[in-house]
Amino acid sequence: MIKEEVIIIGAGPCGLSTAIELQRKGFEPLILEKNNVANSIFHYPTHQTFFSSSEKLEVGDFPFISERQKPQRNEALTYYRMVAERSKVRIQSYETVTNVSEVNGEYLVHSETDKGKENIYSAKYVVFATGYYGQPNELDVEGENLPHVSHYFKEAHPFFNQDVVIVGGKNSAVDAAIELEKAGANVTVLYRGSEYSKSVKPWILPVFDSLVKNGKISMLFDVSIEKITTENVFYDQNGVKADIHADFVFAMIGYHPNKTFLMDLGVTIDEESGRPYVNPDTMETNTNNIYISGVIAAGYNNNEIFIENGRYHGKLIADSIANKQEAGEVNG
Ligand SMILES: Cc1cc2nc3c(=O)[nH]c(=O)nc-3n(C[C@H](O)[C@H](O)[C@H](O)COP(=O)(O)OP(=O)(O)OC[C@H]3O[C@@H](n4cnc5c(N)ncnc54)[C@H](O)[C@@H]3O)c2cc1C
Repeated sequence: MIKEEVIIIGAGPCGLSTAIELQRKGFEPLILEKNNVANSIFHYPTHQTFFSSSEKLEVGDFPFISERQKPQRNEALTYYRMVAERSKVRIQSYETVTNVSEVNGEYLVHSETDKGKENIYSAKYVVFATGYYGQPNELDVEGENLPHVSHYFKEAHPFFNQDVVIVGGKNSAVDAAIELEKAGANVTVLYRGSEYSKSVKPWILPVFDSLVKNGKISMLFDVSIEKITTENVFYDQNGVKADIHADFVFAMIGYHPNKTFLMDLGVTIDEESGRPYVNPDTMETNTNNIYISGVIAAGYNNNEIFIENGRYHGKLIADSIANKQEAGEVNG
């Protein structure tokens, strides 16, 4: 058993920021990360441009300078690697947390490394900063797991001259459609909404809309998907059944946090919003000494929390843990 004071699960921007704030209060938190630093950003589309300007993505007061108005994925990866290096926060990469349980007021954190080694840590405080990008929302239709169907878009080149159906109508869907059209794919977007989503970034929508108006991208509204086969996507549009040929399908319908660990620890999840109960002043959940940081705090609407605001959770958590320690409050 390895003894730790604070364990943070996840080395995304918000896990990193939490670790740095705790370090500044004199703690030596340990981050366990299933892949490597900023793993979600690594899995973004290769040429993704952020919607935030670089200073809004900064953590731990390390400056993020970009010559562009909005930085690109690669610059952010460089930035967060630099933050990890310079802050010297303790990160154990390629170590997945598999279970967290409470025993006599301490938390037992079980993990497994990529090489199959299992570790058990005991910690007084555990911070969940596990994000949402690992869990795509599902269409829940037959054929969703076929090999030509994906919930992630990386690059457009392989889809040149192919019939590509994108399901969804928010930023990820619209961004992918624009890139795919540029690379010569025949793109159809099937969206359940009756008009363009209000969440599509205002500088992206005119580009997309002009491609639709010029017949370069087919956009269908009010669509619900019924089934995917190796050749076609079957759908219902306002009660009319139809199908379309698809060599590849991208189901870009969002992502959701994994709340299983929290629920197992007794954290209350609000049924309507899907949000875990959290004290907004400390980011502590209703389970003593269990904290959440970053987009895991969002419910079904993960457009509410992102790096821009989730990065501030770390300071609240560090203040709360420092106050508890000062007050001599010992868990249990
Ligand atoms: C295409 C795209 C563009 C975006 N653009 C912006 C933008 O411009 N501005 C903005 O503010 N936000 C943006 N976002 C949202 C932003 O990426 C997320 O809000 C952000 O990553 C949340 O940070 P986080 O630290 O909470 O979680 P993540 O960055 O998701 O980090 C969670 C980490 O936890 C690790 N992890 C998960 N489970 C385990 C486990 N069991 N054990 C160990 N490690 C685990 C993961 O590997 C990951 O590294 C964008 C999102 C997408 C998809």
